[in-house]
Amino acid sequence: MQFAGAGRWIYNRGLALRSTLWEEEKKTPSLFDQNNELVLLKQEEATAWLKEIHSQVLQQALDDLNLAFEHFFRRVKNKETPGYPRFRCKGENDSFRYPQGVRVEGDRVWLPKIGWVRFRKSREIEGKIKQTTVIQEGKDWYVCFVCEIEKESVECAEDDIVGIDVGLEHFATIASDEKIEEIESPRFLRRSLSKIRYLSRRLSKKKAKSKNRLKAKEELNAEHARIKNRRKDWLHKLSTRVVKSHDKIVIESLAVKELLERAPKHLARAISDVGWREFLQQLKYKCKERCKKLMEVGQYFPSTKQCYSCKKRNEISLSTREYSCGCGHRMHRDHNAALNLKAAGMSVSKLVELPV
Ligand SMILES: [Zn+2]
Repeated sequence: MQFAGAGRWIYNRGLALRSTLWEEEKKTPSLFDQNNELVLLKQEEATAWLKEIHSQVLQQALDDLNLAFEHFFRRVKNKETPGYPRFRCKGENDSFRYPQGVRVEGDRVWLPKIGWVRFRKSREIEGKIKQTTVIQEGKDWYVCFVCEIEKESVECAEDDIVGIDVGLEHFATIASDEKIEEIESPRFLRRSLSKIRYLSRRLSKKKAKSKNRLKAKEELNAEHARIKNRRKDWLHKLSTRVVKSHDKIVIESLAVKELLERAPKHLARAISDVGWREFLQQLKYKCKERCKKLMEVGQYFPSTKQCYSCKKRNEISLSTREYSCGCGHRMHRDHNAALNLKAAGMSVSKLVELPV
């Protein structure tokens, strides 16, 4: 798209200019200088096409460049690996940004100097749009809004507690006051894996730098993007439902990395597939937004080993699916763990309430 191209052009031109100025005169142009130069460029005949691009899109590109240099200078100062800002290539994070002027009406979005564009909304837009980024991923374009929401100050309630156990058999087991719920993992990746394999095999057979290779690459990227988005959508629906319907969520802190290292290969794929990490991130910020409590229980809390009924600890191997204790308590291991996590959340809030 023309806008993304123009943003990239300005960014790369600015970067080249900064590099030569530094080499020849040891000077660094300021953001102000570069913006002024942009105004002059628009008046020149060769670069008059810049006038057709929304000015804020171009200024944002210069802002990004300036930021890239600030980070670079900071890294030099801190004696870290500096990493000089790189040129942007076509097809690599193609995007442009608007700081303002974007409106949304129903399923249409108004992009200044482009006009109305129809889009599929993944969630309702709340509050005032502060920034809009248009990104290309695979073959599709995405519009991403950053909104500012007025915060209502509400007292956080703690009446309704749920315990969540994550596992390989089910994505999660959720124990609430009413019931124990098993959430099946959708396994999007596994299902699409054969397609991914097929597409990457096809890609490897294409001649280097040929048109067909580029096309095959695009198809593969599109498939990856599709899976990623479907998984994200699914996780968003689940995390929103959990946060909306309960006050306090107790979850075992995920030592996913450790699990990955220990688990056999096919399991490792299942683990990264289900995306617990993403789920936990979503729970974290959604709890903050809605004034709910999220409690992470340390990974050494014996949620799996402890008997929910008599609190005695029993050894249980990874392959044993049913938990059984000498006291007569028998239950699916994940249910037992979820109930223990829920109980841990209740005992902590009780401790807090004790008079000093
Ligand atoms: Zn027991």
